[in-house]
Amino acid sequence: MTCTQCHKREALSDRRRTILSRDVGTEIPGGRCFQCIVDDPAYHYPIISWAVRKREETEQRIRDTLAWPLEFIDRLVGSLRG
Ligand SMILES: [Zn+2]
Repeated sequence: MTCTQCHKREALSDRRRTILSRDVGTEIPGGRCFQCIVDDPAYHYPIISWAVRKREETEQRIRDTLAWPLEFIDRLVGSLRG
């Protein structure tokens, strides 16, 4: 289904729209593509703040993943110095 607003891009599927509504915490209306939804002032802020939150969570996960090998290396170096 083509977006009812821009008539160019593919509208979000019901499934993706349901997931996005749940993640963003506000009901996203159907029939529009992601870009048109983000450009809508009514949904712009909730979506952007969700995206920022998502990015921070991802960065934290990466830091947590990287922290383990660094701790491991520290302990290894410490044990070698004994
Ligand atoms: Zn559109």
